[in-house]
Amino acid sequence: MKYDVVIIGAGHNGLIASCYLAKAGLKVAVLEANEVAGGASVSQRVFPDFDARLSRYSYLVSLMPDQIFADLNLSFTTLGRTVSSYTPDVVDGKDVGLLVHRTPGAETIASFTDYAGAAAYPAWEDFYNSVQKIATAMAPTMLQKLPTRSELKAQVNDPIWDEIVEKPLGQSLEARFEDDLIRGVVLTDGLIGTFSDAHDIAANRCFIYHLIGNGTGEWRVPQGGMGGLIAELLDKSAALGVDLFTNHRVTGIEQAGVEWKVTAAGQTFESRFVLAACAPQTLASIMGTTQPKSLDGSQVKVNMLLKKLPRLKSGIDPKIAFAGTFHIDERYSDFQLAFDQAAAGKVPDCIPAEVYCHTLTDSSIMSDELNAQGFQTLTLFGMHTPASLFEKNEAAVKEEIIQKLFRQINRYLVDPIEECMAVAADGSLCFEIKSPLELEKEIGLPRGNIFHKDLSMPFREDDQDPSWGVETEFPGLYIAGAGAIRGGGVSGIPGHNAARAVLEALG
Ligand SMILES: Cc1cc2nc3c(=O)[nH]c(=O)nc-3n(C[C@H](O)[C@H](O)[C@H](O)COP(=O)(O)OP(=O)(O)OC[C@H]3O[C@@H](n4cnc5c(N)ncnc54)[C@H](O)[C@@H]3O)c2cc1C
Repeated sequence: MKYDVVIIGAGHNGLIASCYLAKAGLKVAVLEANEVAGGASVSQRVFPDFDARLSRYSYLVSLMPDQIFADLNLSFTTLGRTVSSYTPDVVDGKDVGLLVHRTPGAETIASFTDYAGAAAYPAWEDFYNSVQKIATAMAPTMLQKLPTRSELKAQVNDPIWDEIVEKPLGQSLEARFEDDLIRGVVLTDGLIGTFSDAHDIAANRCFIYHLIGNGTGEWRVPQGGMGGLIAELLDKSAALGVDLFTNHRVTGIEQAGVEWKVTAAGQTFESRFVLAACAPQTLASIMGTTQPKSLDGSQVKVNMLLKKLPRLKSGIDPKIAFAGTFHIDERYSDFQLAFDQAAAGKVPDCIPAEVYCHTLTDSSIMSDELNAQGFQTLTLFGMHTPASLFEKNEAAVKEEIIQKLFRQINRYLVDPIEECMAVAADGSLCFEIKSPLELEKEIGLPRGNIFHKDLSMPFREDDQDPSWGVETEFPGLYIAGAGAIRGGGVSGIPGHNAARAVLEALG
């Protein structure tokens, strides 16, 4: 059991690191606690009676640099969507909605104007044109050593830097947008996976990661589901000679001179380098070192299989409404109220949530039979439901939340969502809800934090030493998972950067 590098965790980052290292000629082992590889990036047959493989946890891709696809020659494709988002609302008793196309044209402008007046779209356009300068400057640095704050600021060279990096995001949104719902649609990207209010800089960090992927911030649909990426990475790593050990939970890591000894499933693996592609909190608990501080995960994920898409009261075609992100009760004021209530230990009265339909863009995750019958999959991501809410009675809180979410979405639908759901052989409706505590149990996300630990700004301070953002206090031990600086999301960036740090250390 002697290797050059032992990697803890076969999430997408661990597998990407393994491919880069094996490609460079190193002998690599990947130790995975679960029976299957993939971590938060798996596709599974969630409802056994139906041949539909849903992206059970993560579901869209934006942050993975094209360079990684090219370097590893991955034949995994992501598909663009024409609709960016649709947000239903009821104004003066009338059902209306805000429709935003990925490339806004006359229809998007008309939708903004009808919803919030003639000034609404120019304000939106001006804001996102400025944000583009941040994306253009930051994206190309992600696979290099960390730039300094001053270097990046000089690259951006625009007042948007202060708005997005230095001052609370809420300040900027309140100054730029009049309308509560439009403000909320923008803020959503600052809160997905982050339990924060609009005036905490944590929201800025989350916002940045949602807007900079590949310099465009476009969120794309993984063809074949997230599991398609893992299947491809498993093929590549096996072809490159990587040894993968599933059902191997790492329980011990010891340094012995320049070597490391890693214990898993009663076996000892010796190596010169160890990459922790599990969460930094997991690494700390194995090594008995200080746990890094981090926010709790604060979301529920609901996976659904539908017989048909529900019609909307606003009259929009459901194939358009659900093609992009469908926002439910994500007004700026909804977020604030939900945050305050959840922070006070209460399930929010109204849970800000968003929904998307994978199969409208990629039907390959369902059998021909289900496609022919018009089945669709639906994913709901509900926010401001932190892990602590579930501690006393998880089952009861999950039930309370799902009932609230169904009531919230049904407010905008002609056909109640429950009536559209597929029914399993035992008579149950085809939906499941995952709490943050379940994410910890099933895939090892500490307290259900989808980014492993709080996101960091993608730069170092001017007086800090050059680094890849993956180093630890121990030589030869690197963070290769989402908890690295510039981690979080399905990006492969920490995996790539940790592999680069190892190769650099080897000269
Ligand atoms: C519900 C949900 C929705 C999300 N949606 C998106 C999305 O749409 N787009 C996006 O970009 N991101 C999304 N994310 C975030 C994204 O999935 C994660 O940030 C990313 O998958 C992390 O990848 P990783 O390889 O670093 O770690 P993980 O995928 O967490 O993999 C870590 C692996 O380490 C293993 N492990 C843990 N402890 C040990 C141990 N002691 N020994 C051995 N193995 C161990 C785990 O079993 C796991 O397989 C979502 C996450 C969740 C939970």
